Amino acid sequence: MRYSVRPVGILKSCFKEKFAIPRQPQLAPAARGVLELLPPFEDGRAVIGLEQVSHVWLLFLFHQALEEEPRLKVRPPRLGGNRSLGVFATRATHRPNGIGQSVVKLDKVEAGRLYLSGIDLLDGTPVLDIKPYVPYADRVPEAHNAIAETPPHPITVEWDAEALRQAHAQAQRLSEPVVELIEQCLAQDPRPAYQTPTPERRYGVLFWDLQVRWHYPAPDRIRVLEVVRD
Ligand code: SAM
Repeated sequence: MRYSVRPVGILKSCFKEKFAIPRQPQLAPAARGVLELLPPFEDGRAVIGLEQVSHVWLLFLFHQALEEEPRLKVRPPRLGGNRSLGVFATRATHRPNGIGQSVVKLDKVEAGRLYLSGIDLLDGTPVLDIKPYVPYADRVPEAHNAIAETPPHPITVEWDAEALRQAHAQAQRLSEPVVELIEQCLAQDPRPAYQTPTPERRYGVLFWDLQVRWHYPAPDRIRVLEVVRD
């Protein structure tokens, strides 16, 4: 039995590669994107009333993690990548049908375009559905999850003076909160949990059209070294 689905929109996101994207939404409020709705939904009628809502659920495809064979067990990175769990006990990207779901902040609505923040989605992600967040139904105060009880413990992010100057200049050019985006994402300590960083090792990622480079002067500290146009 197979069904087919069609994206209702494609997300233009600050995140141009999977590395250093927060594990869940809300962890980087400065992470912004624009959801461009596809025909026939680019017609303003599809979003009438949505301006009365602060957050939306996005159902989307992990388009850069799709697999033919479904996995029954996965190794979530937050468990260090060596402990496996049933795929339905995790929010892993490699999952049946490759479907992701994120609740994100809706900053502005235009016909055919939603301006979002606090996202955890890769640039080009196909979005299958948009649903208004319903606090009385979606927020479950008594809920618990012993596997993912708390957000990742943030590490210190410091700046090379020149890198900070570069980041502010790029923020001006892009009219994007570049300094906050870098600090919020790197504070999540994006390196793979099994990797012990040495000060000599350099890391980098593409946010918007910016190459951001850093290193770890100590295992619990990141120093941003450079923020330059790609
Ligand atoms: N909040 C969603 C959920 O629970 O279904 C996503 C959680 S998943 C752990 C978040 C990660 O998915 C991000 O850190 C990023 O590396 C990855 N990701 C985001 N968009 C993707 C895409 N289009 N294809 C593949 N991986 C993606």
